[in-house]
Amino acid sequence: MTSFSMHGVGVSSGIAIGNAHLISHALLEVVHFKIEASAIDEEIARFERAIGLVKHDLEQLKAQLPKNAPAELSAFINTHLAMLSDKSLSEAPKAIIRTELCNAEWALKQQMDDIVAQFDAIEDAYLRERKQDVVQVVERVIKVLLGRDQLAASEKKLQARQERAMILVAHDVSPADAIQFKHHQFAAFITDVGGVTSHTAILARSLNIPSIVALQRARDLINDGELMIVDGSEGVVIVNPDPEVLAEYQLKQNQWQLAQQKLQRIKTTKAVTVDGVAIDLLANIEVPDDVVAAKASGAVGVGLYRTEFLFMNRAEMPDEQEQFEAYKHVAEAMKGHPVTIRTLDIGADKQLNPDEVVTATNPALGLRAVRYCLAEPQIFHSQFRALLRASHYGQVKILIPMLSNLAELRQTKLLFARAKESLRQQGIPFDEQVPIGGMIEVPAAAINADAFAQELDFLSIGTNDLIQYTLAIDRADDAVAHLYNPLHPAVLRLIQMTIAAAAKYDKPVSVCGEMAGDTKLTRLLVGMGMRQLSMHPAHILSVKSQILQSEENVLAKQAKKILSMTDLEKIDPLIKKFNGEVH
Ligand code: PEP
Ligand code: MG
Repeated sequence: MTSFSMHGVGVSSGIAIGNAHLISHALLEVVHFKIEASAIDEEIARFERAIGLVKHDLEQLKAQLPKNAPAELSAFINTHLAMLSDKSLSEAPKAIIRTELCNAEWALKQQMDDIVAQFDAIEDAYLRERKQDVVQVVERVIKVLLGRDQLAASEKKLQARQERAMILVAHDVSPADAIQFKHHQFAAFITDVGGVTSHTAILARSLNIPSIVALQRARDLINDGELMIVDGSEGVVIVNPDPEVLAEYQLKQNQWQLAQQKLQRIKTTKAVTVDGVAIDLLANIEVPDDVVAAKASGAVGVGLYRTEFLFMNRAEMPDEQEQFEAYKHVAEAMKGHPVTIRTLDIGADKQLNPDEVVTATNPALGLRAVRYCLAEPQIFHSQFRALLRASHYGQVKILIPMLSNLAELRQTKLLFARAKESLRQQGIPFDEQVPIGGMIEVPAAAINADAFAQELDFLSIGTNDLIQYTLAIDRADDAVAHLYNPLHPAVLRLIQMTIAAAAKYDKPVSVCGEMAGDTKLTRLLVGMGMRQLSMHPAHILSVKSQILQSEENVLAKQAKKILSMTDLEKIDPLIKKFNGEVH
């Protein structure tokens, strides 16, 4: 076995040593090959067996639905069953196999593309949306064709490997898929595509395991089960390492783990600089269960709860009651500590349905976040009602994403007031004073932060998007990942303007983007005047350790110097120097 290494962009530090576990997206896996005329009948029989198996699975699924399952669920299964019986899916691919002498997966995929194209031409939006059902049902059949036995074997392998560390290797993983990995015990996570602050990377980081993105061809070059080393700090993957290299990394891994354990000693220590400036370290969470990690990290509250993950991987939106229960769970679990819950931030790289074909020309600049909610006021209304109801059970704060102008904010406030009024009329209790804040993540909002600081109770800087929009770099695009730089002078100035606006109107301001959890930037942010940082729980202790060793008045001088600079290439070494000097 030849040893080789690959370089990507490290998005979460640490070292993992384990076996590769390759995951794939069934539709992406479909290959085209010719079959002999004599194999036609066999291929058609294989196709029919696959359709039959999927039908059987769906029937079983339907039979096992609990009595209180929403009616839509069985309707959804019925739609899929009806599609499987429709000639366009059950017969047409057979004709393709016969005439084109191709494999069944390919024939089915061709037929699916054809049907999807016809759906695209339909004017009725509801019917047009049904194409998604076609894609989903075809995907089920293709998974079976690609080898149910293979899948079952892979599941078994997965179980057998539970004892050993497993490294997830994927070409790409959507945020909706990645959230599901929270239930698995992977030791590391690597993908071919993605940027440092793509939502997939953010989720990988929240798992607190070494992660690397933008590896280009890892999924192709690495075989399932191969031994590999992932060094998330350096962005390096070593496949089939030599014994000496393996020993070296085992040592490094031990040292890393020891350092992490040592950090536990400061878990209950307050984050205060040597000269007495206190910094609030808060947690970013994606699902209600993340509060466990948030509390274990010593966070003084939740600074960002990304609610959109409650809306993903499902056919129907969560209703008000389901949302209320999720928000209440977090509010109560944090026992009086602040819980900042962000309203639905959907769009761009966070699709409600990962399989949905994105039609917007430029989704990151399209109908996402608050824009989407204002276009769907009913969704906004039920989320506001759920949030307000939860505010009765803890210290809830509401955060609006991606504001770019005051009109959006005012419209949002109007809807918020309506939600309050509807609860009052029903006599449902909520906190009348629940603060409403806005994310500063569009350059326009940072430049005009004065206006937002006046009209909001608090500001939170979403540096992931702020960098994306300021530098015109798609945060999820690996081709430009190397250009994504939080230290760009333009970015630093926008942050500074936001901090100044918040100070002018005496409003709290935080950073809740990935910059907040990057220990290389802690000193700079504190020096710039930031007093609240919200990050994944896994980073809280290492950021705290930086704060405990720093002197704010020294940091303020260093930050001033950095902010006066216009050349990125000079900023980077100076930051390194300042970080080193204070140690
Ligand atoms: C951000 O943009 O910095 C942010 C915190 O929001 P998200 O990463 O969810 O877009
Ligand atoms: Mg954002």
